Amino acid sequence: MAAVNKTAHSFDKARLEALLSRRFFYAPAFEIYGGVAGLYDYGPSGSSLQANIINEWRKHFIIEEAMLELDTTIMTPAPVFETSGHVARFADWMVKDTKTGDMLRADHLVKTVLGQRLADDEELRSGTAQPVDAKKKKKDKTPPKVKLEAAVAKEYETILAQLDNYDGPQLGELCRTHKIHNPDTDNEVGEPSQFNLMFTSSIGPTGRFPGYLRPETAQGHFLNFSRLLDFNNGKVPFASAQIGRSFRNEISPRAGLLRVREFTMAEIEHFVDPDDKKHPKFASVADVELTLLDRHVQEAGSTEVKRLRVGDAVANGVIANETLAYFMVRISQFLLKIGIDPKRMRFRQHMGNEMAHYATDCWDAELQNSYGWTECVGCADRAAYDLTVHSKKTGQQLVVRESLREPIVREAEVAELNKKIVGKSFKGDAAIFTKHIEGLDEAALVELKSALLNGKTTVTTAEGKSFEITPEFLTIERKTLKQSIREYTPNVIEPSFGLGRILYVLLEHNYWSREQDVDRGVLSLPPLVAPTKVLICPLSSNKEFEPIVADISAKLRRSGIFSKVDDSSQTIGKRYSRNDELGTPYGLTVDFASVQKGTLTLRERDTMDQRIGSIDEVVSIVADLCEGKIDWPQACERLPAYDGKQAVD
Ligand code: AMP
Repeated sequence: MAAVNKTAHSFDKARLEALLSRRFFYAPAFEIYGGVAGLYDYGPSGSSLQANIINEWRKHFIIEEAMLELDTTIMTPAPVFETSGHVARFADWMVKDTKTGDMLRADHLVKTVLGQRLADDEELRSGTAQPVDAKKKKKDKTPPKVKLEAAVAKEYETILAQLDNYDGPQLGELCRTHKIHNPDTDNEVGEPSQFNLMFTSSIGPTGRFPGYLRPETAQGHFLNFSRLLDFNNGKVPFASAQIGRSFRNEISPRAGLLRVREFTMAEIEHFVDPDDKKHPKFASVADVELTLLDRHVQEAGSTEVKRLRVGDAVANGVIANETLAYFMVRISQFLLKIGIDPKRMRFRQHMGNEMAHYATDCWDAELQNSYGWTECVGCADRAAYDLTVHSKKTGQQLVVRESLREPIVREAEVAELNKKIVGKSFKGDAAIFTKHIEGLDEAALVELKSALLNGKTTVTTAEGKSFEITPEFLTIERKTLKQSIREYTPNVIEPSFGLGRILYVLLEHNYWSREQDVDRGVLSLPPLVAPTKVLICPLSSNKEFEPIVADISAKLRRSGIFSKVDDSSQTIGKRYSRNDELGTPYGLTVDFASVQKGTLTLRERDTMDQRIGSIDEVVSIVADLCEGKIDWPQACERLPAYDGKQAVD
């Protein structure tokens, strides 16, 4: 079997982009109207690829972890996001080009400009800098390449490592200190201001009910918490899952599918006891090693990663708890399964200032691609934030009530009010007095009890209202209390996937081209997610092949395998290489030997290796390959190599 040399040609982004457009993986939406930045349509190849990724996601998470699936609305009334904190805080810092008025995202601007200066410096030092084209230079606004002093380069590296931790005024300071201008115009930029990323809308005809297009699916899970808990027989932990569209009015989306304004998310909200964030399946993943970039390393100005056993990372407090770590492993396993390159995956922890307003610990699964390291999955511990704020706002209890196996028996001071006397004496203020007494803790009750021994005392509320009381108003006694129900607000661990980002990086990680055919690319997508699994190629348009092709198609369909027939007049080689571009992993050639001897040749995309066997045997092996039951070397053990003799035209 020939070895696959996927690095035969270094990654060529322009070629990949041309392929994705030509083979309609995706394209700018509203293209014939000029398009809109950050909005894309997926074509047949992209849609199938996304559907297959979603299908695998559902199996890997929803089915494997018995999650409760939801489909909640996109349009959301404003009070929900006012309560969740999104109206006040779901914003990015932007700066304005002082001459053109163009808006730029402040952190991206700093990253681009300092990153470019470091790259220029590197080029000049290594002697790989290209000479400047004098004609282009006239129009070009980019500043000349400059060698940096070592201390300056180090400072830039430190800033970039900590960039996500800067707030708006700090980003403004960076722009001034380091003379960071708009790279498109070389104009100065103004002070950063906040821009809320939610799209606003209005519900109904009156204009009186403002709404937002959701920027995440999570709130739909939280608002349905009581129903979900009930559905789960009142038991925690459990997880809900949802796949759906979200919307973010990104300031200046430029990086293709990586930063868009409308995208599909797949989100899990795992509800867990705040006092016990252990995970029942943690032992099964404790030995898995992950590549981690923790917050302390970044805060020290470095981006050096560590490979750590997850069991050790939790034991040493690098990852906050077992449940968070369990999901990080499951995220990693999912990404690898669909074809992400393990060498280009890391988990980066959020630094203090960077954390979303609801999170207490957060790790992003970042995937390296031609745009740098990109967050593709966020995995946050949102603590009890969301359930607490919604409960407070609506007055609905969003809590778990757990029957204790062993009731908790304890002694405590208990106050009993004589409501008649309280009501008669304090009239309209009786409720204030009652609330105050009910809110007293053990120490305060002991103090009040001893004060009442004098026959009279004065009670003063937090608002400064005073009540004179005697022992007739209330008794305070030590009693034995039995508590058989524990009530708590669960914490939430949230893995949140952006499918477009994953899909794009997957395409980059699997794209390569053969030395002998650089113009035609190959997408080495795993069969699990490849849009089409099998291409059936009859050798020619000879009528004798038709029933065989129909029979193979029917058999594959019965096995649930998506195949396509290519009976065009192109050579078999051309037909195969056209489908290598679509990531089709297997090809079947129907030739005269199929008619005479009932054989079929099977071709594998990456190696271009060809094997032969009886039609039924080949179809069954292809089914096993597509379902991931066997790999190609195992298939080769079952099928002899094809020596090219059977196909007589
Ligand atoms: P966040 O809630 O910001 O942590 O985002 C969760 C996930 O959504 C990220 O890991 C990304 O995969 C995805 N995502 C966020 N913003 C965008 C965007 N503008 N375009 C595409 N994907 C996004």
